[in-house]
Amino acid sequence: MSFLQEPEPQRGVALDVLPGIRRVVARNPSVMTYQGTNTYLIDGEDGLTVIDPGPKKDAQHVAEILAAAGSVPVKRIFLTHTHTDHWGATAELQAATGAPVFAYKVSAREGFTPDVKLEDGDATAGFTALHTPGHAADHLCFEYRLKDGRKILFSGDHVMSWSSSIVSPPDGDMLDYYRSLGLLLARDDELYLSGHGPLLPEPRKLVAQLLSHRQHREGTILAELRAQEWGVAELAIRLYNKTDPFLKIAAQRNVLAHLLKLKAEGIAQELAPGTVLPEDAPVMVGPPGDVQGESGGLMEQMRQDALRRFGLL
Ligand SMILES: [Zn+2]
Repeated sequence: MSFLQEPEPQRGVALDVLPGIRRVVARNPSVMTYQGTNTYLIDGEDGLTVIDPGPKKDAQHVAEILAAAGSVPVKRIFLTHTHTDHWGATAELQAATGAPVFAYKVSAREGFTPDVKLEDGDATAGFTALHTPGHAADHLCFEYRLKDGRKILFSGDHVMSWSSSIVSPPDGDMLDYYRSLGLLLARDDELYLSGHGPLLPEPRKLVAQLLSHRQHREGTILAELRAQEWGVAELAIRLYNKTDPFLKIAAQRNVLAHLLKLKAEGIAQELAPGTVLPEDAPVMVGPPGDVQGESGGLMEQMRQDALRRFGLL
């Protein structure tokens, strides 16, 4: 796939991306977040719009956003989704700016309600929200038009320039992910600015590749199911040769998401779960603290999910 790389971006300053658009890259690099979360600052007629405040417990990142804003008021805060590495600093940034928070009307994060509940198609200050569930149930992309007329899309973690996205049930849903990729394929955005990684030109080329990559993966899973029944952990080990523990877990979550899609489509069925994890199953240390959640409950859920078994219907 034609993913893009970039050298480590300069930290602590707002970097020019496009006319009127800058980004501050948070200090949370990892195998899941690349160089760190992109916080975008967009100049508008009444002040700034900030997209994705960034990770939790990073007062320095918030201070850098405020420094980049300078004397220009932050008028609104948009969230592409409520995973910790995007949403974490929302309360701090709101406290410092008083700006309202705009996010999808139904939040996937317990205890969080946005000030402005967005629906698919809602327009605000030149941005149009697009509901794109799949990576996260509450994921929004934001369409925006540059002064020179070019149509761009803030694509969050739905489509990233540097890597494919994890689809981790139940917040992540593979059927939704396919649909949301299809939605972007039917559009004519010229550039994507994603939640991690550099600006993406010719974005539809990558969207098409991401979709066919998943279809290919699904075909492989189906072929394996035709031969025998599979546990999620065993199938992930068979299909992916990842060595990094976080990537192993990501692979396992993606396999589960594919199996649940096949189940929802009436092709596969879920069987009684296994009781013992294979020896080379990834150690359940969970995703990097910053990505999705911190609770012990999540760890236990992932262990249970690794034991789930599926066969053809
Ligand atoms: Zn995410």
